[in-house]
Amino acid sequence: MYDAIVVGARCAGSPTAMLLARSGYNVLLVDKATFPSDIMSTHYIHQPGVAMLKRWGVLDALMATGCPPITNVTLSFGDVTINPPPPPDDAPMQYAICPRRTILDKLLVDAAVDAGAELREGFSVREVVMDGDRATGVRGSVKGGDEVTETARIVIGADGLHSKVAAAVQPKEYDTKPTLSFAYYAYWSGFDLDGAELHFGEDAGALVFPTHDGKACIATAGSTGGFHEFRKDVETNYLAVLEKFPSIAERLKGAKREERFIGTNDQPNYFRKPYGPGWALVGDSGYHRDFATGLGITDAFRDVQLLADAIDAGFSERQPLDEALAGYEQRRNEIAKPLYDITCEIASGNDVDLAMFMQFGAAMQAMQDMMVAADAEVPA
Ligand SMILES: Cc1cc2nc3c(=O)[nH]c(=O)nc-3n(C[C@H](O)[C@H](O)[C@H](O)COP(=O)(O)OP(=O)(O)OC[C@H]3O[C@@H](n4cnc5c(N)ncnc54)[C@H](O)[C@@H]3O)c2cc1C
Repeated sequence: MYDAIVVGARCAGSPTAMLLARSGYNVLLVDKATFPSDIMSTHYIHQPGVAMLKRWGVLDALMATGCPPITNVTLSFGDVTINPPPPPDDAPMQYAICPRRTILDKLLVDAAVDAGAELREGFSVREVVMDGDRATGVRGSVKGGDEVTETARIVIGADGLHSKVAAAVQPKEYDTKPTLSFAYYAYWSGFDLDGAELHFGEDAGALVFPTHDGKACIATAGSTGGFHEFRKDVETNYLAVLEKFPSIAERLKGAKREERFIGTNDQPNYFRKPYGPGWALVGDSGYHRDFATGLGITDAFRDVQLLADAIDAGFSERQPLDEALAGYEQRRNEIAKPLYDITCEIASGNDVDLAMFMQFGAAMQAMQDMMVAADAEVPA
């Protein structure tokens, strides 16, 4: 019997397994994917998320892969372009990053294994084993292998938007909003980059993020109602959106698209109760918001730390486990809710303006402050 089984080994699952293993727990980490591998994401990580990577000791290895630090952000609304001031000198992190998931997720998986977690790649969880309303383990197999059952004190669903763990434990969902926007993105070489860019038009938007190998991840977004028309001819429609933003269109002339288009209209917005008897949820399985503000990974890192601290407090009997996990939910929601509301506003395409981004900056700062404060509370 394991102390914890973590289902899903990307930005939510691997660091959860890593932190629990570092605290001395016996952890099984499983994923149906093998690593390195990609997953749909434009993978921008805000400063508080980068600060978590630093705290966990994996940032240096990531930056050594040639991941460009992002210190300049450009927001453009029609004719108005602004560059928000950089973080103050004493901020815990000075830059954002946009690492390829092939690289980031593999580093995180390796960090979990280095910490002592047992990894099973290519292992698909087919069922969460329940004893009444208590989760006691998982049943699954590697491709073509025999089905096995593994048991644990806690089963952690870090298995993303279509979480099998969440489907099994049926958590309460709240503050839900349906999909509001769709996105398509591709990677370009030869695109002149100067930090991250967010361009807002009347009925569409575009993002430019610098990533590994000097490439630009360029995404377009529109209201969900336009998805089916858009996908009839993705290339033409994607380029038509970028044409609306002259500064992008101009630079695109000398650039080359290096990879296929990737897109989705599957972006529900929800909070879920992230714990119950024998189970917990972290990352997209417990909280999901539109991609518009590029928050998923930063959110996941924050919640990983909160969840791992709560489980450790419970397992080590410093606090009743249920009470500690209730604290995880409460703190997650306190930090996430203002950013969630702004994200839904932006994704709905209503009145995206500078004021909203000032609010976003303030909410992001509050997130950083609360994470620093939470840090101070965690016993060494
Ligand atoms: C178009 C788009 C753009 C985005 N852009 C950004 C961005 O710029 N910045 C940002 O921060 N976020 C972005 N996001 C969101 C971000 O990618 C997610 O929030 C993040 O990947 C969530 O991490 P996770 O670990 O919770 O889940 P995932 O990354 O989805 O990982 C879940 C893992 O669970 C595994 N799994 C699932 N089911 C099973 C099973 N039954 N058995 C075993 N394994 C299983 C999967 O194989 C997968 O590896 C974007 C999302 C989209 C769709």
